Amino acid sequence: MSHTVSFISLGCAKNQVDCEQMMYLMAQAGYEISPEPENVDLVVINTCGFIDAAKSEAIEQILATAQKKAEGLVGRILVTGCLAQRYQQEILTELPEVDGVLGTGSYYDIVSAAEQVLAGTVVQEYGSVHTAARETGRILTTPEHYSYLKIAEGCDNCCAFCVIPKLRGKFRSRKLEDLEAEARRLAQSGTRELIVVAQDSSRYGIDLYGRRMLPELLRRLCRIEGLHWIRVHYTYPDELSDELIEVLAAEPKIVKYLDIPIQHVNDTILRRMNRRGNKAYLEGLFAKLRARIPGLVLRTSLIAGLPGEGEAEFEELCQFLRRQKLERVGVFAFSPEEGTPAARMDYPDPEIARHRVELIEELQSEVLDAWHVSLFDRNLEVLVEDWDGRCYYGRSYADSPGIDGSVRFESEREHRPGDFVQVKILGAEDGELTGREVDFV
Ligand code: SF4
Repeated sequence: MSHTVSFISLGCAKNQVDCEQMMYLMAQAGYEISPEPENVDLVVINTCGFIDAAKSEAIEQILATAQKKAEGLVGRILVTGCLAQRYQQEILTELPEVDGVLGTGSYYDIVSAAEQVLAGTVVQEYGSVHTAARETGRILTTPEHYSYLKIAEGCDNCCAFCVIPKLRGKFRSRKLEDLEAEARRLAQSGTRELIVVAQDSSRYGIDLYGRRMLPELLRRLCRIEGLHWIRVHYTYPDELSDELIEVLAAEPKIVKYLDIPIQHVNDTILRRMNRRGNKAYLEGLFAKLRARIPGLVLRTSLIAGLPGEGEAEFEELCQFLRRQKLERVGVFAFSPEEGTPAARMDYPDPEIARHRVELIEELQSEVLDAWHVSLFDRNLEVLVEDWDGRCYYGRSYADSPGIDGSVRFESEREHRPGDFVQVKILGAEDGELTGREVDFV
């Protein structure tokens, strides 16, 4: 009789893809994959561990699963992912309910690790974090109509506040032909929206081909039948070449949405955080992008309370946001991560950092409201996601799943998740656009 295993994946989409690959390897080895982490022989918790909030979430999940183990609903617990890589000794000593730990360099050894854990052996395996990606299948955990394409692993940027290069290793691109083949398989399995992810997507190819190959990759992905939308996440500001901007502008399948984490805009802070580029460069880049790609939605990530951020530097960031009117902004409070240069620097009180996060969120909600009003009476293409009994939910080109908003709309027609419809935007409520389906013109 085959063993049952359930997977819980935390953190980013890249981690989710790793989890999907582990699920595939386990299913190939004859394990029964259970959607529910109860009444199973093994639970694999694929953790995130790059900032405090993520670490707390992972530990809470491990403790909740340990409780089920104590109640006899779970046989064994295997912890994988970034928290496992980062706290190699602490996890087993401080969480004795855990039966095994697998680092980020050992995902492909999930089957042998599971066998050992189920046989009662406590596993601790940490392969090199620079391990080359292995081409393997995936069991998709996203709804059928969209999926992620992880084009590379690791990061060479070494921002002073970030532990990811330590946890995920140096930047390693996957081969163009492997990515094309995977994207074709995803399209054949029903993917309509393909979301390109990596720690730094704009660097794709530099290690393997000696030059940036994201433009070429995107052109190839756009030729794949069945894919309707291609979305690009995690680009680094000074890696956005004119060639890439041209492809983003010219290819109709590539949604006019771009994610460019900038973290801050003050030149001294950027320099101390080992971030390339300065405020003038960012302003020039955003102006160039908006001029070349009409209707472009810009997403960024910011950190409030970084070392060196006083009232003046924070106000400078707010002024930049008021001027740039970025449509999508994720903001986090600085988390001094042990082992990073930034953690050894003086930084504002965490309470001040949290308050600055709130101030940026308030500022951005005004930007969002004004932008929503600018969309009234416009028709937007919407990817249908759900029906709540009264109206449909979906996402426009401006909405990436799980992090942005959605569009709620009425329709006389029947739709299935994955359908593309045209919606006339009539209003906005609680940060969401509302409207009515109209015919494609
Ligand atoms: S680019 Fe992103 S993943 Fe890479 S070091 Fe900087 S913050 Fe971390």
